Amino acid sequence: MLYCPKCQLLISDSSQRCPFCGSKKLRKPEPEDPALLITADENKTRAIEAVFKENKIIYRKRIAKGFVGLNKLNFGKDYLTNYNIFVSYGDIENCSELLHGAGIVDEVNKQNENNGSEEEFEDMSPRKRFFWRTFSAILFIIVVWIVVFAADYVVDIIKEILKKL
Ligand SMILES: [Zn+2]
Repeated sequence: MLYCPKCQLLISDSSQRCPFCGSKKLRKPEPEDPALLITADENKTRAIEAVFKENKIIYRKRIAKGFVGLNKLNFGKDYLTNYNIFVSYGDIENCSELLHGAGIVDEVNKQNENNGSEEEFEDMSPRKRFFWRTFSAILFIIVVWIVVFAADYVVDIIKEILKKL
């Protein structure tokens, strides 16, 4: 196991560079080193914090960059915030077991499923991504317009029927 002190990230031995910052200054982790345990959404973070407080685990959380993939289509609503949760390297094993035991995470140290779709999304070229975002926005407006129009139409029909009564 290697450690990037800049990102506070644990990296597999086979890696030459930190996948986040590209740094080659990796070293063996020390027990006191803060290390990224998991990236979790707000709900999961709350559950994890409850477990940590109960077990007196010292942790730090920071808002993670990037958003949950699906929420890109969450028109008008707030984005869900993801948090990176750090614990001492020496506590990682223990924390992992605690979170497993509490049924909060299936696999600690792996990013949650939502980030998988994010990566897929990032694979697209910026132009393609822009196209899909614009396309989804337009599609959404069209759907809303159809629903409003259909509702109007139905109300008119009902009015006509009532008039005839
Ligand atoms: Zn790094």
